[in-house]
Amino acid sequence: MTKAESPRKLFADRIYRMGVENAFRIGPHINRVEAAGHKVIRLNLGEPDFDMPSFVREEVKRQLDLGNTRYCDPQGIAGLRQTIANQMKEMRGLNVSPERVVIFPGGKPSIGFCLHAYCNFGDEVIYPSPGFPIYESFTLYLGAKPVPVHLSEENHFAFTPEQLAGLITEKTRVIMLNFPSNPTGGVATEEQLRGIAEVIKRKCGPEVRVYSDEIYEYILFDGRKHYSIASFPGMAERTVVASGFSKTFAWPGGRLGYAVFPTEEEAAVVKNLNIHYFSCLPPFTQEGARLAFEHPDSKATIAKMVRTFEERRNIILEQIREIEGISCQKPGGAFYLYPNIAGVCQRIGAIEAFDRLPADVRRQTSPASLFQMFLLYHHHVATLDRNSFCRIGAEGQHYLRLSIASELSLLQEGVHRLKAASQDAAGFEVFMKTLALDVIS
Ligand code: PMP
Repeated sequence: MTKAESPRKLFADRIYRMGVENAFRIGPHINRVEAAGHKVIRLNLGEPDFDMPSFVREEVKRQLDLGNTRYCDPQGIAGLRQTIANQMKEMRGLNVSPERVVIFPGGKPSIGFCLHAYCNFGDEVIYPSPGFPIYESFTLYLGAKPVPVHLSEENHFAFTPEQLAGLITEKTRVIMLNFPSNPTGGVATEEQLRGIAEVIKRKCGPEVRVYSDEIYEYILFDGRKHYSIASFPGMAERTVVASGFSKTFAWPGGRLGYAVFPTEEEAAVVKNLNIHYFSCLPPFTQEGARLAFEHPDSKATIAKMVRTFEERRNIILEQIREIEGISCQKPGGAFYLYPNIAGVCQRIGAIEAFDRLPADVRRQTSPASLFQMFLLYHHHVATLDRNSFCRIGAEGQHYLRLSIASELSLLQEGVHRLKAASQDAAGFEVFMKTLALDVIS
């Protein structure tokens, strides 16, 4: 068929460039395993297993009863924006006017909105890899150029100023940071952030934006304190600080997040994107979110959840490190473990099996992905593989992410099953012969 005759594609080119968030995509696989009668231990989603605070729930109900269900300010209700401005002062020492705050349906939308607002086709976006998959996927979708900063285990998954300096060009428009990090649990020290800030000020023009995803800001272990790059001199005017209510208040279904922009003008541009996409957010949930920060029990509620995550981290980390073929760094925050499973992939034959696959199939998978699917289909534990966290240049890296946002007994059973899978070379061979090609997508 000549080019002129080739059929038109259904979708615009950008749709074919878009990736996916595997934490959600694995759902049908879990359903399939459960439909076959197995109980799956779900260590895939980054969702706290706590209930949202009761005082927030009561406030949302009260607001509904008051009939607070009309359209409201597309930028977010004034009271909530003022609360966020106060939190910026308390947590980061920043003086922020409520006009610089924009509320979104979750922590996620501000990623895409900022890339929409700041990037032209061909502009470069720097982001951590492994990192939250939407950074890379949205960059590709918009036709901007993804520039991953490869975080290495030897370097404790730190995002170093030196690496960043080597990647900044005159086309750089947005630099994404995420501390505490998903999936590694890495937390930048004050010194590391200062170094990153110095590089940005030295090498970037004033129009380059840092998007600082601080959604895990409260989930810190071993007495750590949260630092934001926006708090360093000269950085507030270049940084969009983003966070939300899904993690801090165990309220992912509330779909509430926010970002603080360097200027009111930038906030107004993004508010206009809100208007185009969804007009406004439910006022009754926003009132609940306002109270989430302002209620006298707020801090104690967060602290209790964080203590539980820390206890689980300690126990599960120790157990996972005992599995032959697995090494695992100690996360300083968030609620994930990110073990290196290279030894396991080697032992059960996943690396060899991968190498034997046809080239077009290999492009869609990896040894860690094969092990992830084997673990789910044969041992009934759902996890995420390395490729779920930005995949450009991830070849040859063998990691899994386990969420520790589940009850301890489930986590322990999950690790027990992981250990069994890691020794089950015969089962893996059966998986490769029967199911593997069917579940690679
Ligand atoms: N950023 C990071 C780093 C995350 O891990 C997540 C959620 N997993 C989000 C943003 C999105 O959060 P939300 O569910 O509030 O949209």
